[in-house]
Amino acid sequence: MPAQVLDGKAVAAKLRSEVATGVARFREAHGRAPGLDVILVGDDPASQVYVRNKEKAATEVGMRGRVHRLPATTTAAELLGAIERLNRDDEVDGFLVQLPLPKGLPETEILDSVAAAKDVDGLHPLNAGLLALGRPQLVSATPRGVMRLIAETGTALAGKRAVVVGRSNIVGKPLAQLLLAEHATVTMAHSRTRELGDLCRQADVLVAAVGRPGLVRGDWIKPGAVVIDVGTTRNEQGKLAGDVAFGEACEAAGFITPVPGGVGPMTIACLLENALKAAVERVKAQGRG
Ligand code: NAP
Repeated sequence: MPAQVLDGKAVAAKLRSEVATGVARFREAHGRAPGLDVILVGDDPASQVYVRNKEKAATEVGMRGRVHRLPATTTAAELLGAIERLNRDDEVDGFLVQLPLPKGLPETEILDSVAAAKDVDGLHPLNAGLLALGRPQLVSATPRGVMRLIAETGTALAGKRAVVVGRSNIVGKPLAQLLLAEHATVTMAHSRTRELGDLCRQADVLVAAVGRPGLVRGDWIKPGAVVIDVGTTRNEQGKLAGDVAFGEACEAAGFITPVPGGVGPMTIACLLENALKAAVERVKAQGRG
């Protein structure tokens, strides 16, 4: 039987409406909307689109979305100064620095300088460490979106074999931690992994977060597996392609996400959820919650 296709747009719409309810409640309690700020350095066209989408999505759920655009010539000191201003600004609940940064800017130093309580991308060492200790605070949006999609399938993860292909700090690593917290037996794969196909064939839950269109073939999939495709690569015609050979994979998988319309919409919805969480936790910490 062909796989059931998971509708990321529909699940994300549900989540956004939950966030909108939370935003309205926050506004009523505190007399202001929670906010999501984004720092964009340079004029990378894909980043411009992502940032516009985040601002629009924030506004649509009733948040204050704001973009701080800095020129590509911005120095590390200038960027650190801009981050420090947002860290100190009491009106700012959560913010992120859009990646990738222009070449020459020290990404680690920049990401470490974002106040952990406002770090809606979950990339600060404190947030990454808390997640690894099983005490998650702010966790990167894409892995949370993946977990929510897996939950939609009704799969009980305890004891299941999960394989995550890709080990980035923003997707693969935090996702492996979230799966582990749900008691899955997790294997992480990457560019040096041998016999990747054999490994994937053992997965009850297979997540591909690589950025190589069609890497995961249909015969790499265990019959009935949940297959989540995080990969998004734009081809020459401007069309988005996932990491999974979708047509082939549909023949074997039990559930599968499409690209586009799978993980992508979930990422923005989970980012909004993070911004609301940051706002709620911040007023609580200030004794105003
Ligand atoms: P990344 O930082 O470039 O990491 C890619 C990972 O894939 C690395 O761990 C790399 O291994 C591994 N890899 C590369 N070639 C491989 C191969 N042939 N076999 C197995 N593993 C291989 O990318 P990312 O930021 O995690 O993003 C991954 C993909 O997800 C991209 O297409 C990105 O656009 C997409 N993405 C989508 C969303 C969304 O909302 N839909 C959000 C974030 C990212 P090494 O570590 O050994 O180099």
